[in-house]
Amino acid sequence: MIENFYIEEEIFRHPLTENILKRIPHKNIELIQNYADFFGRVKKPYLQKRNNLNAFIAQKKGQLVKSAPDAYGLSGEPHFYYIHAYNCIYECEYCYLQGHFNSPDLVFFVNHNEIIAEMQKVYDREIIKQEADKKIWFHAGEFSDSLALSHATNEISLYHNFFEINKRAMLELRTKSANINEILKLKPLPNIVTSFSLSPSQRAKKTDLKTPSTKHRILAMSKLQNSGHKVAIHLDPIVYEDNFQVAYQELFHELDQNLDLTKVEYISAGVVRFTKDVYAQVEKNYPQSDIHAAEMIKSFDGKVRYPRPMRRWMLSSIEDQLLKLKINTEKIYLCMED
Ligand code: SF4
Repeated sequence: MIENFYIEEEIFRHPLTENILKRIPHKNIELIQNYADFFGRVKKPYLQKRNNLNAFIAQKKGQLVKSAPDAYGLSGEPHFYYIHAYNCIYECEYCYLQGHFNSPDLVFFVNHNEIIAEMQKVYDREIIKQEADKKIWFHAGEFSDSLALSHATNEISLYHNFFEINKRAMLELRTKSANINEILKLKPLPNIVTSFSLSPSQRAKKTDLKTPSTKHRILAMSKLQNSGHKVAIHLDPIVYEDNFQVAYQELFHELDQNLDLTKVEYISAGVVRFTKDVYAQVEKNYPQSDIHAAEMIKSFDGKVRYPRPMRRWMLSSIEDQLLKLKINTEKIYLCMED
């Protein structure tokens, strides 16, 4: 339940605004001129999202499509991201959003046609620069889950049109939800990939608060795959626990039972890591979390991580297990900081 919806006056009658208001229960509506005058202007503690959550409906201004950080996706091809929303209805204990904005309130952007026009410009520019076999990647979900509220925000079909026409463009919709209905309504395209972040069941239960269970995410993946849609997996963040290898064996077994793993587009793996600010927030918001159980150090780039030998050992055990499942090495992407 949203306490207050703050809506920019200019887009109050926008069809996507109307759909959001129809689908998301709320108490009050207030019209404003510009969300940036209000969102995050006063510090709101992150955990207030549990019982006092506001939302904004706004137009994204400034740079609408940005170059993605180096660690994004498969290397050797250009990666960009666009922003459809800020913040998230879930509450993963390691979420970097808790140190990112001054407020956990949600922001939904509705000017997707402008974002898509910008994507077209980026695509047209990149297509000239890149060799003929290279793809141009666009990622959603940098600052919010891509699918969790997609039935309300209703933008995915707009992006689908763009990717149907621009065949060398790739879209990654990254999610921890099982809310796949908006995708199931659309024609499967070879250049749209829905990627699911997964952890072993017990780990997700302890850490991925309010998200669908690992089992439900895997069932959603299976439904998508059976309907011809492309799926991918992010094993990220991997958190150490005593039975870490067994827990991942069980996860891979469950995946193997439900999916054709040889048809999964790619599998990335990354060990839990934080910027200094996010780590301070995690310690403050979740002091009892077992994320703090294993030793973490401040590493060369200022990020807080497990010591290097441990990170390497964890990633290579995951890689070994994936190779035993006959997953093509080219599809495995290990997020190594160096
Ligand atoms: S699903 Fe992603 S964005 Fe949402 S709380 Fe979890 S980590 Fe954060």
